Amino acid sequence: MFVHMNFEDTPVEAAFRVEAREWLEAHAALRSANSSHGVLSVLGRESDTAADIEIARQWQQKAAADGWAGISWPTEYGGRGATLMEQIIWSQECAAFVVPDAVFRIGISLGGPTVIAHGTEEQRRRFLPPLLAGEEIWCQLFSEPGAGSDLASLRTTAAADGDEWIVNGQKVWSSGAHYSKWGFLLARTNPEAPKHQGITWFLLDMEAAGIEVRPLRQMTGLSHFNEVFFEDVCIPDTNRIGDLHDGWRVAQTTLLHERSMMGEFGVGGVVDALVALARQHAPDGTVDPRVRQELADLYIRAETMRFIGYRLITAISQGGLPGAEASVAKLAMARLLNDAGDLGTRIAGPASVVKDPDEFANEWWETLLAAPALRIAGGSDEVQHNIIGERVLGLPKEPGPSRDTPFKDLPIS
Ligand SMILES: Cc1cc2nc3c(=O)[nH]c(=O)nc-3n(C[C@H](O)[C@H](O)[C@H](O)COP(=O)(O)OP(=O)(O)OC[C@H]3O[C@@H](n4cnc5c(N)ncnc54)[C@H](O)[C@@H]3O)c2cc1C
Repeated sequence: MFVHMNFEDTPVEAAFRVEAREWLEAHAALRSANSSHGVLSVLGRESDTAADIEIARQWQQKAAADGWAGISWPTEYGGRGATLMEQIIWSQECAAFVVPDAVFRIGISLGGPTVIAHGTEEQRRRFLPPLLAGEEIWCQLFSEPGAGSDLASLRTTAAADGDEWIVNGQKVWSSGAHYSKWGFLLARTNPEAPKHQGITWFLLDMEAAGIEVRPLRQMTGLSHFNEVFFEDVCIPDTNRIGDLHDGWRVAQTTLLHERSMMGEFGVGGVVDALVALARQHAPDGTVDPRVRQELADLYIRAETMRFIGYRLITAISQGGLPGAEASVAKLAMARLLNDAGDLGTRIAGPASVVKDPDEFANEWWETLLAAPALRIAGGSDEVQHNIIGERVLGLPKEPGPSRDTPFKDLPIS
């Protein structure tokens, strides 16, 4: 569908932008010109130590106290009650500052909106305010060793026991599970039903008995995600979000928000930072023409992404939901940041492998190591290609077993 794009803030939005920027100027540091702009914050850099988590909590508490948490969330759950456009303006303004809120993003951007859409009033009032106020961190317990791209193949079970559920199984790649209070969990509640129809969405207390969280170390040296094992873990039925066996539909809300969030990551400012880095490494002031060529290529791609972003924003502001545009944005973002990390490392040269808190060269090396994860997280490049193939190009769906086959009769891969 052709969407007419509108780039201008309304007067109300322009006033909101000024207010947001003034608050950020008063409470956050500006990002340095040649810093790699937040790519690493989402992949563990800002949550590696207990001190990092404490900084994030304090930031979130301050933001919530001053009315800058959950911009578009209803005020009764601790939000600001503003529009989606104002939420987007807030994110745009935050991009220029060091905002240490990464550990709260899974809860606030993915889990919270799912509880708003599918939870009961009592559940919203219990779970949402402590999340926004920085008191409770959430993680996502969806992927398993045999269920990532094909998430509906998940095998972790939740068996009914009176008004409780007993959970057994394993999750993997669970970002932040090692410091989270709540995990939103997809578990199989009916193996007799076809695979999409026997899943339920729960909020699991990560302090419950029977949970073992084992951090996984990445090649960056950080431990951003974990394996999580469940042995007879109890969940009260009051923590079930949405209808029984309807978790696949509930999870679509979570995944839509995940794709939209991923498409937003760290691209704004990354090319300017590379240009600053290239100038810094050109002592006579002339940047190598081959580097200039690569910078121009990245600039064009970042500009294209900016326009895809406007298309998404315009669709949202006109009351629509992002569709395949979110897949295009996510795919383009992951490729661009991989190439930016590669170019930044080549420009900075050997300096990039030296850890020096006053030098940003090392951030580009870390970006090079961290960025490949973005091509997998939130739906891999290949999966985005499939979505674009089917929904944009109109190609036929991949063949597979019937959607009506009971889960227990499906072959195990
Ligand atoms: C940094 C990071 C953070 C993450 N955080 C979380 C989290 O907090 N919670 C959580 O639940 N999960 C998390 N994940 C997991 C993530 O959602 C999965 O890694 C992702 O969905 C891919 O699944 P998989 O790793 O099982 O790979 P697989 O699905 O096994 O895929 C393996 C390869 O096969 C390709 N492939 C698979 N299916 C198809 C197909 N139909 N057509 C073409 N190619 C295909 C894939 O593209 C990939 O290259 C995270 C992952 C990363 C990298």
